Amino acid sequence: MRLPGWRLALLVVCLLAPATLSAEDRVGPFKHAERSVRSRDFDQQHLRLDLDINWADHSFTGVARHTLTPFKPLDSLTFDAAEMEVRHAWLLAGDEKGQKKELNFEQRKEQLVVRLDRSHPAGESLTVAIEYLVKDPEHGVHFVFPDQDEPDGQTMLWTQSEPEYARYWFPCFDSPTDRLTSEIFVKAPVEYLVLSNGRLLDTPAPVDGVKTWHWSQAKSHVPYLMSIVVGDFEKYEQRWRDTPITSYTPRGRLADAERSFADTPAMMEFFSRKIGVAYPWPKYAQICVDEYKWGGMEHTSATTLNLSTLHDAQAALDVSSENLVAHELAHQWYGDLLTCKDWGELWLNESFATFFATLWKEQDEGPEEAAWERFREEQSYLAEDKTYRRSIVNYRYDTPIKMFDRHSYPKGARVLQMLRFELGEDLFWKSIQHYTAANQHRTVETADLRRAIEDASGQGLNWFFDQWIYHGGHPEFHVDWRWDADAGQVRVHIEQKQKVDDVTPLFRTHLEIEVAVAGKEQLHRVLIEKADQTFDFPAAERPTRVCLDPSNWVLKELTADKSKQEWLDQLQHDSHLVCRAQAAEGLAEFVKDTDVVAALAQAAQQDPFWGVREEATKALANARGDAARKALLQVLKEDQKSTVRQQAIASLEKYAHDDTRAALRAAIADDASYKTVSSALEMLAKVDRAHCADDLLQALERPSHREQILKAACKGLAEIKHAAAVDRLADMLEHPLTFDRRLAIAQAIVKFKQKHDGATQRLRPLLASQRQDLRLAAVQALAETGDEKTVGPLTDLRAAEKADAVVKEIDKAIKKLNEAAKK
Ligand SMILES: [Zn+2]
Repeated sequence: MRLPGWRLALLVVCLLAPATLSAEDRVGPFKHAERSVRSRDFDQQHLRLDLDINWADHSFTGVARHTLTPFKPLDSLTFDAAEMEVRHAWLLAGDEKGQKKELNFEQRKEQLVVRLDRSHPAGESLTVAIEYLVKDPEHGVHFVFPDQDEPDGQTMLWTQSEPEYARYWFPCFDSPTDRLTSEIFVKAPVEYLVLSNGRLLDTPAPVDGVKTWHWSQAKSHVPYLMSIVVGDFEKYEQRWRDTPITSYTPRGRLADAERSFADTPAMMEFFSRKIGVAYPWPKYAQICVDEYKWGGMEHTSATTLNLSTLHDAQAALDVSSENLVAHELAHQWYGDLLTCKDWGELWLNESFATFFATLWKEQDEGPEEAAWERFREEQSYLAEDKTYRRSIVNYRYDTPIKMFDRHSYPKGARVLQMLRFELGEDLFWKSIQHYTAANQHRTVETADLRRAIEDASGQGLNWFFDQWIYHGGHPEFHVDWRWDADAGQVRVHIEQKQKVDDVTPLFRTHLEIEVAVAGKEQLHRVLIEKADQTFDFPAAERPTRVCLDPSNWVLKELTADKSKQEWLDQLQHDSHLVCRAQAAEGLAEFVKDTDVVAALAQAAQQDPFWGVREEATKALANARGDAARKALLQVLKEDQKSTVRQQAIASLEKYAHDDTRAALRAAIADDASYKTVSSALEMLAKVDRAHCADDLLQALERPSHREQILKAACKGLAEIKHAAAVDRLADMLEHPLTFDRRLAIAQAIVKFKQKHDGATQRLRPLLASQRQDLRLAAVQALAETGDEKTVGPLTDLRAAEKADAVVKEIDKAIKKLNEAAKK
């Protein structure tokens, strides 16, 4: 699964955990008593679901036929079953056409206990059928109904079972511990597609406009990987070897499919070759659905994706779905073919998917792009580490969703990359191939991985798993060096500065050290295993720089005693992009010096790698002066990479000058990237407060991917407190609008904190929206624009509202409006 925006969350400023915190206090939401892998009384073998959807009242009836085997004599069966109304339970004799015996049952909170007719011995194969009704539950299944005045809205149904939401749409033992085969029969209007796991079998002729779809997953998987999606979709079809690949878009969006999915067959070939086990399922489908709150979900052979996966050609300057598509595809092996046995071992799913997505980048775009991606992964993890620290394998989570954090995604991916470094390319891939082949169609824990690696490579790796997987943190290296002219040697001194405690160990790792002498880089490999070590290398001349781990294999924090001269040499001459990026950052503290500004300006405009140009551009933010400003404006005008131009804009905040304002207006008018235009609008509101209102108002009408330009313009207008903007936004709500646009406007009105009758009038109808996000935004906006007369409609909505999040906001809004009325 991919949560949306863990990369963007990097930008969130994290509070530093005070140094006085003990290891126990620092573990964040990982204080729960140690859990165990969940025990089970029976083994699920096969599940057949028959679903009949009632679109009118957001419900369906289901019959779940479970074939299972008790581990011990049982006179009852306990299933996970949440928010459903169970109507019947039967014991089926022999095949499903045979005799059936009605059984008693009892529903408890999130559980269904079915009383068997007698005690059944261990090992007997039993089939029970459960008939139930599901009506608009909180989790698990979601109906999408667009509002009447939405021109592009579509009707859909999708399910989301990970981590433990399968129990909301069918009764089962809802845990990754138990694998089973499954088949799903769904009745749907003939114009709709039904997508599910595995192979599509017989589809009888429609009866009265209703078609029954029969999907069969004949190889085992776990309940959280089961899925159905129903709706009106168009197809983008491809093939890899004999496997059909179909990507589905909502009707009207097919033109965007190729941009996001064209590389899927090439990824499948690459992963199959690297992993040594060919793509294991009979088909691969990717389907983009509306109102999906996650990035993507790797349902077995039927990945579900967020609608933002699709984007137009202009948005492709800023965003790509390549990483997401590769991530979900990699899960078809790691997650689906091999499944973590408990959420405490989630890294065996998520770190592998993250690692393989970056590996695809390495293959597709080259090693430098991949190195930069890994540098970002490291920063993403380090930001989370500032808030809490845990071991990667961890059975002390309070709820499973807490495991889906940056320790499970980027940190674990970097651990696999370190394993690649320690073992070397050949042994690493032998190990991965052996692990995958030996454990396919099984649930796995980390011991299975360690054992497989040891079997395939001959290397004992307890120490590696102990420090990186069963402990938390990372080494904090400090490096300094001196040159001994008489001995012709350079002495490099490396310390591990991290506080060692119950969670954080002293680390053992190989490390590469680059010594640059007379323009030549020499690479030395050393073993770090102590808190304080020195290493001597020959150096006939004084080195111009020493760089630790220039290829950034090892996850770490790094500080160094370096002179300005050494940083300059590193920025201008190092062949490794991470070294150059670190130098740009290191030079930020010397940014008042003209030679530093000149070097950063040159790097910002000319470094061959865009990530280094971006870092140099960032370092210029505090330089002040004409030279720095001119360099930033040049970058904004000319850099080919939109993120570098956006960084130039961000760095211009302290350069309020006519040139800056003119350059921002030029970017707003001409830059092809939506994000760059958005950044320029927001910055204009900061550096030209008095004169930017018209620029911002004009931008309100511009279309863009995910309405980012509209959002930026509103943010700017709110920042300059432009009172008339609310009139304009209220007028815009008057007309038919896409859901995204209506939502963006309602959310923007909140920011103005302004009482406004016109806006209140136009926001009220949104309370009746089918879409929860829109009702929520409308309630929040009405709390700002309305008066005490708004309390009535809000109270009416509260009586009918099912979503907890909206009810909470209604209560807040009513309180606020009542208090304002009293004043
Ligand atoms: Zn994932």
